[in-house]
Amino acid sequence: VDLSPIAARLGALGVVVDPVDRLRFEEPARGAPGPAAAVLRPATVDEVRAVIEWARRQRVQLLPQGANTGLVGASTPPPEGATPAGAPPERDVVVLSLERLVDGLTIDPVDRVAVVPAGLRLSALDHAARAHGLHLPIDLSADPSLGGMVATNTGGSRVLRHGPLRRHVLGIEVVFADDAVSVVRHLDAVRKDSRGVELAQLLIGSGGTLGVVTRVAVALTPVPEASTTWWIEPRDDSAVSELLARLEQDLGYGEQLSALELVSAGALDAALTHQGQSDAGPFGSRRPPISLLAEWSGAAPALEGLEQLFATLADEGLVLDAVVVPAARSWALRHAVNEGLRARGVVLGHDVATPRPALMHFRAQALAALRSLVPRAEVSDFGHVGDGGLHCNVVFPRGSTAPPSPEERAAIRAVIEEAVADVGGTYSAEHGLGPVNAARWLATTSPVERSLVAAMKATVDPVGILGHPRHPYNQLGSRLDQLGPGDTALSP
Ligand SMILES: Cc1cc2nc3c(=O)[nH]c(=O)nc-3n(C[C@H](O)[C@H](O)[C@H](O)COP(=O)(O)OP(=O)(O)OC[C@H]3O[C@@H](n4cnc5c(N)ncnc54)[C@H](O)[C@@H]3O)c2cc1C
Repeated sequence: VDLSPIAARLGALGVVVDPVDRLRFEEPARGAPGPAAAVLRPATVDEVRAVIEWARRQRVQLLPQGANTGLVGASTPPPEGATPAGAPPERDVVVLSLERLVDGLTIDPVDRVAVVPAGLRLSALDHAARAHGLHLPIDLSADPSLGGMVATNTGGSRVLRHGPLRRHVLGIEVVFADDAVSVVRHLDAVRKDSRGVELAQLLIGSGGTLGVVTRVAVALTPVPEASTTWWIEPRDDSAVSELLARLEQDLGYGEQLSALELVSAGALDAALTHQGQSDAGPFGSRRPPISLLAEWSGAAPALEGLEQLFATLADEGLVLDAVVVPAARSWALRHAVNEGLRARGVVLGHDVATPRPALMHFRAQALAALRSLVPRAEVSDFGHVGDGGLHCNVVFPRGSTAPPSPEERAAIRAVIEEAVADVGGTYSAEHGLGPVNAARWLATTSPVERSLVAAMKATVDPVGILGHPRHPYNQLGSRLDQLGPGDTALSP
């Protein structure tokens, strides 16, 4: 790769050359690291454009990266020596980090709209918005960039009440890799717009394969005056759906319900152990087979008196135990689950969602199949049961258990994805598409949908340089693969 033209344009801060400094761009949040031929860090939209022009000439694969918290293998270059059998040879992968694209955040507190540079982290947006009593009501254990959130359609714990990122996006600025390297800007941020299909919505979830997001306009909501969090031990698995319906439809409190999370015994134990507080769980040292974390938020007076609701639910036998735990402690514990499981061993994550009434049936089927397939593994699932989501995580404890073989990994994924398909669910609820679920997308998406994506790709990235090489959208055939090495028709 000839870096000199782009290095001259971006300056010293714009190119990461030191192999040690590069590691954090090559090491994913989950999975194996992969080598980058280079890491480029443009600081302006013009520089992003220059990087794309350079990549088109060099014929390198350009992998946009935000905060690198993605969980589907699409955020970092592919691991060495792991090209899928029969796949064409892959090109050099250059990471296009958006982490310096952080200047120029604007917040209109009256209109409740923020226009956010794509590299800015969710925590930084929230910090600035809270000065106006506002926030983006998306909550998760990681701190992603706004561009990465658009690319994956981030969900989190409050989808039940507020929906995923898609619901909050009003506009977008994107740089395409078409022949003109066009910058398209729709940041007018009107709250409704019926001029045909909406560009931002088309790009949400496209995982860096259709364009590089450089700015996002989002609608903000008021920070609730108060919130209250309860940990609930349901009667059994079959009580969960009914409990959700009762909480959601309750005339007094239903509108305030903002999260309902499920934490299995294994996940709770991993979080508490990781925090060094084994005996200080919501139920002391007891680990119910499943616990639910429920949050209500709104005006303080509207949240009073939940004790009475729980007394009724206990009388009816739906709830065995329910305790108030302060919100900060509740969420710290919930957010410690990921780290806790990672500390325990090798974690195979599966991010699924089903129609809500089917979730616990899916869970029972998947758990039974997994127990017979890999009896040595622990299934420590948890997730956003209020929106039908579950992180069906399979853990191979370090030290006591052999790690999973590649064949076992594939068989585990297949069992879970088939169980989820049986109930009409999705194999990617909120983490997006990437190498880990590419085969399933290619196998289950209709020909006309695949053609539609290929046509979009041919329009906005005709050379086929954008995004992870093993993202399913990049396995639909690209013009570059059909051109000879000396072909110069690609220069803009
Ligand atoms: C501990 C932990 C907990 C998590 N919990 C949740 C959760 O509850 N809910 C949830 O939805 N997700 C969760 N995630 C996943 C992750 O945080 C999200 O997928 C997040 O949206 C990724 O954003 P990012 O900035 O880190 O993107 P990256 O990881 O950098 O990239 C993700 C994808 O977006 C593309 N991309 C990044 N920036 C851009 C850009 N500017 N333009 C175009 N494409 C771009 C990349 O090419 C890649 O395909 C969790 C992750 C971790 C590590």
